[in-house]
Amino acid sequence: GVILVTGANGFIAGHIIDQFLAAGYTVRGTVRSPSSGSKVRELHAKYGDKLEIAIVPDLTKVESYENALQDVVGIMHTASPVDLSASDNEKELLIPAIQGVTALLKASKKWATSLKRIVFTSSFAANINVPEGYRPGYTYTSEDWNPVTYAEGATADPVSAYCASKTLAEQAAWSFIKEEKPSFDLVSLNPAWVFGPHFAPTTPALDLKHLNESTQALWKVVDADTVPPVDFAAAVDVRDVARAHLLAFETPAAGGNRFLLAEHFSYQLAADIAREQVPELAGRVPVIEQGKEQTPATYYAVDGSKPTEILGLKYRPITDTIRDAYAQLAAVEKVA
Ligand code: NDP
Repeated sequence: GVILVTGANGFIAGHIIDQFLAAGYTVRGTVRSPSSGSKVRELHAKYGDKLEIAIVPDLTKVESYENALQDVVGIMHTASPVDLSASDNEKELLIPAIQGVTALLKASKKWATSLKRIVFTSSFAANINVPEGYRPGYTYTSEDWNPVTYAEGATADPVSAYCASKTLAEQAAWSFIKEEKPSFDLVSLNPAWVFGPHFAPTTPALDLKHLNESTQALWKVVDADTVPPVDFAAAVDVRDVARAHLLAFETPAAGGNRFLLAEHFSYQLAADIAREQVPELAGRVPVIEQGKEQTPATYYAVDGSKPTEILGLKYRPITDTIRDAYAQLAAVEKVA
């Protein structure tokens, strides 16, 4: 059987593909263009033909998936726009996110006759209640839902609109399962900010000016005048997120569940780690201003224990995640 990974050239997908290949699976990655496909093949060259590429030019069209779904037993659906500064909410965020997962589900019901499970890469964005803000004293769990509506998402600020796109896409997926009763089931993984090194056998050829959204959020702390205000007070390691996809596919009891993947995070924590643990960056990160300390008690807490209980996922300490991410970025900068 084949594992289909949509958005194969993405930050998280790089690690998902590596971990499934390392576990012995055959993986088929979908990308929008042949040039993205070649890059993905190159990144995982070690596994040769165990990695196949399928071109899906438009993820919102059911027909685009017909050939990609042959012999597929599991789908990791990561493809979705991650952009916290979109200008057209519906066109850039809501439509590709919602219609993307809906088209994939319809196509799967039609053509993926051996499919057992779809693991949907949702987000903490689908759990958080954005207007509630920092919400000290509140603890988010896997069961929380962002209450946003489509109409609100269509006109909201870009961050809220991204959160709406993830919420409504996840809801569309659960509705499909409930109403269409396909022979496969669904698991939703809801990671907070995903940080950590990009998957790459050597120093990756990253363009520091065009980083994926979460890596960019971390990198902007370097050379900043002040520590940025907290946007999302939670994060998780990209390698743990990838492992959660593998475990979610392989654990029978995971079916029908949502899993919040999160530990406490703040930009002060990121700045302190960079200063203390990444010598190349030590002199380039701001110190938090007195009276503005980003202590955990200022923010909501996150309970990410469900993936540990049901999937057996062990979290890497978030301090290691941040250190490893910065160490890779510093190495990339040196080569560039
Ligand atoms: P990347 O930006 O690195 O990857 C996104 C992937 O989705 C790329 O393959 C991209 O393809 C594809 N994609 C985006 N928009 C479209 C579109 N309109 N049509 C077709 N493909 C598209 O992001 P991440 O790896 O960080 O994110 C992967 C998933 O994880 C997303 O679903 C995201 O919401 C979720 N997530 C990410 C978090 C984070 O902090 N990074 C946190 C929580 C959830 P292309 O290169 O062709 O645009």
